[in-house]
Amino acid sequence: AVRTRFAPSPTGMLHIGSLRTALYNYLLARNTGGQFLLRLEDTDQNRLVLGAEKNIYQSLKWCGIKYDEGPIIGGPHGPYRQSERTEIYRAHIDTLLDSGHAYRCFCSKERLEKLRDSAKKLQPPTTVSYDRHCANLDDQEIKRKLEQGMPYTVRLKSPDQYPTFHDLLHGSLNIQPQVNKNDVRYDDPILVKSDNLPTYHFANVIDDHLMEITHVIRGEEWLPSTQKHIAIYNAFGWSPPKFVHIPLLTSSEDKKLSKRKGDSSVINLRDKGVLPEALVNFCVLFGWSPPRNMASTSHECFSLSEFERLFNLNYLTKGNAKVDDKKLWFFNKHYLQLQLEEPASLRHLVKQVLPRAQEHFGPAATNEKVTTILQTCGKALTTVHEFNDLFYYFFRKPDFNHSTLAQNFLRSHESSEVLAILETFRGKIGASNVDSVIQGTKDTLQISKRPIFESLRFALAGSQPGAKIPILINILGIGEANNRIAEAIA
Ligand code: GLU
Repeated sequence: AVRTRFAPSPTGMLHIGSLRTALYNYLLARNTGGQFLLRLEDTDQNRLVLGAEKNIYQSLKWCGIKYDEGPIIGGPHGPYRQSERTEIYRAHIDTLLDSGHAYRCFCSKERLEKLRDSAKKLQPPTTVSYDRHCANLDDQEIKRKLEQGMPYTVRLKSPDQYPTFHDLLHGSLNIQPQVNKNDVRYDDPILVKSDNLPTYHFANVIDDHLMEITHVIRGEEWLPSTQKHIAIYNAFGWSPPKFVHIPLLTSSEDKKLSKRKGDSSVINLRDKGVLPEALVNFCVLFGWSPPRNMASTSHECFSLSEFERLFNLNYLTKGNAKVDDKKLWFFNKHYLQLQLEEPASLRHLVKQVLPRAQEHFGPAATNEKVTTILQTCGKALTTVHEFNDLFYYFFRKPDFNHSTLAQNFLRSHESSEVLAILETFRGKIGASNVDSVIQGTKDTLQISKRPIFESLRFALAGSQPGAKIPILINILGIGEANNRIAEAIA
């Protein structure tokens, strides 16, 4: 059975690039009837960020991504926090030390620093800098240093040539670190740091093996690590999982999206009014799209369960995906409409809008009024957060002097015509006669309906779009509608 995992490091808020990685792993497992698990890669104590772990749980839950095994919920391959697996790593490093695939390195920081500096000065320069000094220590010397309590790291004795490996998206890859032929240096990645904790490379391989992971879907930034990982699998005599390295998400300015940039974090987007359905739809389609004939519909809106049914690795794309906000808001509007049409979700939306509307407009913002506005005019919204700005005129008089829309209207229309139109409405609006009054104005003044609607919208809503005129009058009430017309003329 397929087993996938999402293995974030709790070093910041979960952003949309990581969410997409989580989604692909999740979807592959769901589509194949396999398992999906969450593992926290928290061995780099210096980079941990308070609250980041909670943010991961919160973000996944909000998006509807459930995992079969993970921290807190546990599972047969636990614990699922790397910081709780130290004993497991220790036992495994002993195996590699015994078999000669790894060795202890006692070199001081200063010595390593010097090696790095000299490697930089080589022609061509290289970042592969270790001279393998400690690989040649004899047993006596090692024993003596250990007894002295000398700090050490453990390094992998890397193969002369890293083997070619296969990536399901990129095909066969042969990535060798840049070495300098004239000065023999070795990659020999560190597996255990001097604080006794494993590095990402080591813990990652041990865990993927012990947790029986079959497919690793992760960002392209891990591609240069993969040959090291495979060398570790080989040193143990284990077979590696299948790898899929997905292209990076880039923002419109083509920069890699950074975790520290709060604005692309999942929770931040939630707080800006993005719906989870929209975000999931948006993220999955960056780098994956089903062929037309597979997705019985021609549209591009898919729910998480539809994705679960459709997802497979064949339709991943290779190019970097550019994040385009417009698309996200397009999806958001779509899902917001669906929710407005569904009574239970409408009630839920009202609950979100009501406190903010009351804070802004006072008790005039009743549950009933907010519900009616959402039901009849909600189409104008991209997120519920726009409610106060977009629909303010239902709660207070339009602000002719400060509203740009109203000012634009006044600039582009003959005021004599507007006055004449509004005059025909003065005191005339009653229950259900709006259409006939409009018709009457049209006939008397011999004009088209357009300036009539525009003038009414100016008087009643300060030219703010969003509500049809009859609906507008209905919600404002006849008295208030007549008042506003009278005031606009005055
Ligand atoms: N901890 C790594 C990260 O933060 C995991 C990479 C991988 O999936 O191997 O992305």
